[in-house]
This record gives sequence, C-alpha cells and structure tokens, in this order.
Amino acid sequence: MNLSELARKLKITTEELKEKLPELGFDIGKKAIKIDENQTAKIIQKFKEEKRKKLLEEKIEKFKNIDIKDDSKKKEVKDIKNSNHIFIGNSVVVSQLAEKMNVSVVKIISELMKNGIVANLNQSIDFDTASIISEEMGYSIELKNIEDTLSFDDGLKDDLKKMIDKNNENFCLERPPVVVVMGHVDHGKTKLLDTLSDTNKIKGESGGITQHIGAFQIEKNDRKLTFIDTPGHEAFQSMRARGGAVADVAILIVAANDSLKAQTLEALKIIQEEELPFIVAINKIDLPDSNIDKVKNDLAEINLTPEDWGGDTICVPISALKGDGIDELLDVLFLVSDIYKEKLNCNISGPAMGTIIESHLNENEGPKATIIIQTGTLMVGDYVLIDDIEGKIKSLKNDKNEFIKEARPGDPVIISGLKGLPRVGDILQVIKNKKDLRKKLKDYAQKSNASNSNASVKSMNKDNNAGDTMTSLNLIIKSDFLGSKEALTGSLEKINQIPNLKINIIKNEVGSITEGDVLLAEDTNSIVLGFGVHVGNLASMIAKDKEIVITISKIIYELVDFVYQEIEKLVPPEVQMNVFAKAKVLKVFSTGKKQIFGCLITSGTVKKGNKFYLKRNDEIISFGEVKSLKIEKKEYEKVEPGNECGILSNLDIRILEGDLLEFYEEVEIIYKIVKQ
Ligand code: GDP
Repeated sequence: MNLSELARKLKITTEELKEKLPELGFDIGKKAIKIDENQTAKIIQKFKEEKRKKLLEEKIEKFKNIDIKDDSKKKEVKDIKNSNHIFIGNSVVVSQLAEKMNVSVVKIISELMKNGIVANLNQSIDFDTASIISEEMGYSIELKNIEDTLSFDDGLKDDLKKMIDKNNENFCLERPPVVVVMGHVDHGKTKLLDTLSDTNKIKGESGGITQHIGAFQIEKNDRKLTFIDTPGHEAFQSMRARGGAVADVAILIVAANDSLKAQTLEALKIIQEEELPFIVAINKIDLPDSNIDKVKNDLAEINLTPEDWGGDTICVPISALKGDGIDELLDVLFLVSDIYKEKLNCNISGPAMGTIIESHLNENEGPKATIIIQTGTLMVGDYVLIDDIEGKIKSLKNDKNEFIKEARPGDPVIISGLKGLPRVGDILQVIKNKKDLRKKLKDYAQKSNASNSNASVKSMNKDNNAGDTMTSLNLIIKSDFLGSKEALTGSLEKINQIPNLKINIIKNEVGSITEGDVLLAEDTNSIVLGFGVHVGNLASMIAKDKEIVITISKIIYELVDFVYQEIEKLVPPEVQMNVFAKAKVLKVFSTGKKQIFGCLITSGTVKKGNKFYLKRNDEIISFGEVKSLKIEKKEYEKVEPGNECGILSNLDIRILEGDLLEFYEEVEIIYKIVKQ
C-alpha cells in the first residue's frame, strides 16, 4: 500500500504518519513510499490500540472526579460515605480515634474521663469503650472485619511509597501490573480467578504444580499480569489498613442476572478512594436470565455510563464459567495498564520492599508468607524485617512451586526463613545486615513498649471483659505417653478460654526432644515443653546456642504454671495516670510568650518537673509540665498544699483565671493473670 493511502485511511497526513511510525516501533526507512501488506495491517492495528488507549485515558481521568449520584442508591452510598460513621478494629489508639472523628485528642481524653477512664493519647481503648464515647459525641461506630492494630513502624508505608515513586523517576524495568478482583458475593470472583489461572498460567520450567499462594501470574503475548487471588474487598481493605497499596488495576465483577448490589457499591467506593483504574466484568452472560443491558443501565444510573453507551466505564461481558470474553478482558487489562505505564517502571537494584498477601504456618518448614515485591530484588540469604518479625530468606518459590534465586517487582513469591507469622498487608523490607536488623528490632521494641500501654489489658485480668490485646505464645510439646500428652493439652486449653490469651501449639508429639524440635522452635519463636521426656545431647547444645527455652517436668501443674509465667512476661504493663495534687489558677501574668500563673495548691505537694493537665468547665484542655515554682520571686523545688505560688510551664495555650490543674504521675501496673 502507498504510504499516502495508508495516511488517508488513518485520517492523518503522510508527514504525520512518517513521524509517528518510528514512535510506534515501525522502521520503514525515510525514503519508503510503499509498505507491505503484513506491516500495513500491524500499523493499522497499532493505531487503533493507541486511539483506544487515549480514549480510555481520558475516560479514566474523568472517572476520578465522578461521584456516585443516584436517588435509589444514594442512601446506601451515603451510609457508606457518611462522615459521622466510622470504622475501627477491636481496638483503637486514642489519637487515631480523634483523627478518625476529626476532633481534638483532648476532647476524646476528657470524654473518656467522664466515663471514668484515664487514658493518654498513645493508649489504645477497646471497641466497646470507643463506641460508648463516640456515640455520646454523635458518631456511629462500626467494627471493621479486619484488625487495625498499630504497626510497629508506621513510617514504613511512606518509605515504600517514596521508594516506588523514586523508581518511577529512575526506572530500569517494566514490572507486571497487579490486578485485584472485587464485587458482590456469588457474582463469580472466585470462578473468574480460577478460570484465569487455569487458562493462561505461565508454564513452569519444571512443570511445577500450581500452588494456592494468594497470587498468580499469567502471560499473554509475552506480557505478564499478576492477580491477587484472594477475592473480595475485605482482603483488599485489610491490606490497605496496613499500608500495602499493592494493586494497579481492579476488575469489578457484576453478575448479569443480578446487577449492582450493596457490595458492588462498597467495592466501587474503595476503587474511587484508591483512584484505581477499573474494568467492569459483566459475568454469567451464559445464563438465560442474564441481562447485560440492565447492568449497563444500572451503571449509567449511578453515573458510570458504559463506554459503548457513550460514557466512561469500560465493560467487558464474560462468562467465567465457560471462558467467554476472558481474552478480551485480558486485552483491556493490558490496555488500561499501558495508560499507567510509568507507574510500572521499577528499580530492581535497590533493597527489596513488598507487601504480604498471604501467610501460613507449615508444620515442617515453619512460617511461610507470600509477598508481592514492589521495589528492588529479593534474594535468598537476605535479612528481612516484617513489622517486628525478623527473618533470613531460606528459600524463594514462585507461584508454580519452583525454587527461584531472586524475585523482582510485580512477582508474587513464597518466602521461608521467618521467625513468626506476618499479617496480610504488612510491609517487608530488606535490611542490610544482621547488625542493622538487631538495631531496628531494638528500636521497634522500645517504640512498641511506649505505645502499647494498653488501657484494656487490665480488663483481661480484672473482669474478664474481652479486651483488645491478644497475647499469644507458641509451644512445642513433647510427651512420654499419649495419655500424658492429652492431659497436658487439656490443661493448656483452659488458657485459651481466658480472653486475650492464646496458646498456639505448633507441634504436639510423643517422644524425646530432638534437634529438629529446637530448630522448629527457633523458626516459630516457640518455647519447648517436655512432659517426662529427655532432651537429646545435640538438641540441648543447639538450644543453648540459640537461646531456646526448654522446660521439662513430670508434673503437669509445673508445666502449666511455667506457661502462665511466660505469658505474663509477654503482657505489656498498663500505664495509669494517678492524680496526686490539684491547684486552681488565681491569676495569669504574661511575659512575652511565657505565661506564669499564680495558683493555689488545693491538695497534694507539687514539685518541679511534675506533669499536669489543665481542666476548664470540667474538660481537659491541655497537658503540660512544671518548669519552675516560685513563691514571691524565690524559686522552690516543691510547694506544699495550702500555699499560693507562681508556676511557669511549657503550656502553649492561653490559661485563664479559674482553670484547674491536676498533677499526675504515670504508674506502670503489671497484672497477674487470673488462672481459670
Ligand atoms: P464469589 O462469591 O464472587 O467468589 O462467586 P463464585 O465464583 O463462588 O461464584 C458463585 C457461583 O456462581 C458458583 O456456583 C459459580 O460456579 C457460579 N458462576 C460463576 N461464574 C459463572 C458464570 O460465568 N456462569 C454461570 N452460569 N455461573 C457462574
């Protein structure tokens, strides 16, 4: 075909075509006038793809600004979006609750005090407590399905984001896009994932067997896609709660015989919040009662008008059961990912970081986890840290259960060599060496001690209310007889009936303690209990070397008591604020920025350095510390009750006459577990 004829067909000038062809990867030479048939077809195809990509790009851009607006659905969506409706986990840190409710921390603390609970901003309160005070403050509160525990390293989310953004600037390689499937229950999420993993799975070099590891990769036209195969937005949310923003594209699946449902809208809301590009897969088109137009119409009604109706929403009709439309779905996924190509550029040379998408305990090999690498290359032998769980990568396996030496961004990989079980959504980071790993762990331990002073620990011991801190202990048990094994297990089960305590029995067998038991204890962070058994010489040496706790006794109660003691060591002490002195502000003098307030000490002795909070109209307004104490210009170390004195503090709010000061000390309370 003549170049000019092709240009006419593509509705551009010959000059424009000549300019564009090299950009699209066609090298026809500067002087060419004719192009062969084969190449012409490829060029036309490429132009079509480019055009579609551009259209999609514009549409997706527009989608970001769309809000779901429809009278019939409005209420449902409004309920989800209602800002006075908040979700929390089993526990929430006081400062986080304030942030969620968009009120000051002081307001939460004073509301807690009204209910007889003294907590500081770093303490966590349980769901029931949070729900009582927030309802009093006009909020409705709902328990999230997922744990929202405080991460040891909240800064990690930002670090990961920065690393990924940096990758985008200095890219080295294009990684496979990561896809999540969301939608209403029974609309076919699992079936679609099954069909995808069966049809286009990348063939393993050694014909490895497919493993269910939380993610899989497929390949089409030499390009890979990674699918997270835990369907449903709960899994996605739990990942998001811990920072792992791992997905690049979403498939929103809608059954053609059922159309939009509550969870479809919930999923859409998440997609909007995450600004995730998405495709609607209209599923079950093989069913006689399927009605594609009804789905499209319902989408249009909530301002998501389908592409072929002149709107912005990309819809692909499929049958996950029969495999129809799957090829087109994949093509569109690649097209949508192409639009965000620069986000898929990644650096393979830096230290690896990634997100946990699945974890489990393997009886023989200890904890295992699947992660999706997001930056850098993960290698066997790397020291890693996941929250407070350390490890040294013993092995890496791909989704076909094959051993691999390294894993790159976008790849799902199963890792072993961890000393504990990480949670879904936790972020893995590679640490340079063992020394740095130790240092990080020490920092985390200090940080967690500071923030884990949990107001509900006492409930566990005092009144058995379900609190929010689950303390768990891993055990490996070896017994002399089957009968004694059962007796010991029975006694330990009682511990699991105590709220907030959990015993995980990693292994429970008859026989002496072997080196294998000790190594498993090291891998799983367990202690070893021997009920009337011996410890082999080698096992004993290894245990000493690796500092593994082994306890042996012939008396059941001794072993059970030992377990209680070990658990008590794990329960963080509670910090209580005990008020020991009070004062009333009589007069305020300002010198520059500083405010000195004249007070009457109404009870208790006040000393320099004491901490206090300031109360006004029965509400705590602020916290401060006594910097200096003066009586008639003379500096004092302490002032007894009944005296008037001038106090200089680090308060930076305006103090008023009549304000009250309550001086407190923080007392650590270590509780004993009440045995059942
Ligand atoms: P999920 O809850 O969204 O994961 O839904 P499932 O994948 O478990 O599917 C729910 C039911 O719908 C199962 O019985 C599937 O076999 C069936 N199903 C899924 N996709 C199709 C489809 O394309 N056609 C038909 N006829 N049934 C389907």
